[in-house]
This record gives sequence, structure tokens and C-alpha cells, in this order.
Amino acid sequence: MERREFETLVGKALDGIPDELYNFLDNVDVVVEDWPTPTQLVVSDIEDGEYLLGLYEGIPLTARHEYGNVLPDKITIFQRSIEEVCDSKDEIIEQVRDTVVHEVAHHFGIDDERLHELGVA
Ligand SMILES: [Zn+2]
Repeated sequence: MERREFETLVGKALDGIPDELYNFLDNVDVVVEDWPTPTQLVVSDIEDGEYLLGLYEGIPLTARHEYGNVLPDKITIFQRSIEEVCDSKDEIIEQVRDTVVHEVAHHFGIDDERLHELGVA
């Protein structure tokens, strides 16, 4: 898939987030990369043989005390990883949506364990 088309999917996934949540996004960039860097793989704690589809890096809203003069949070969506685990365009669309929601949840301070409990991990 062309990068531009993939980025459009990411944009649509962000548009799909309800306004009540979307309006609370604060100082966060969403970017697309092909694959995670070795460092990103290490910090993400991903298991061997699994693909890292997205990564949230930053200071969650719930942890922002005396917040200021810092780089924006960053959500990275890994295009090639997502394409690798999907067999069709429909699957890619769905996986992009799930991954964007998952990483946005981290921005809001919801951790993987809680996401798993909520059934969205
Ligand atoms: Zn996560």
C-alpha cells in the first residue's frame, strides 16, 4: 500500500474517535513509519516473533504534573508491521483503527493491562 493511502487510513481512524475523547488529545503527534527501530522494540517490551504495530511514547495525561517545555507525545503507527499481519485491505483498515485507538488510550493513561480487561488490547 502507498504511504499516502495508509496515512489516510490513520487519519480516518483518528476521525473515528468520538469528539468527547478527541477533544482531550493534548500535545500529541501521530506519525507513520515503516518498521520500529531496535530501541522502540526494546521499550515496547514486545515478545520475540511478534510484530509491533504501534507505539505510544510520551507522558500520559494522567501523569502530567508541572507539565511544560517538553516534546509532544508521539504515537507511531508501523505500516509494514501492520501489512505483515493482515491479509486484505479490509483487515488493514480494521487493524489501523484498533492500533490507533489502543495508542490513544495510552495517551489518556490507560495501560495495557486495563485495555486487556476492557477487551480492546
Ligand atoms: Zn499498548
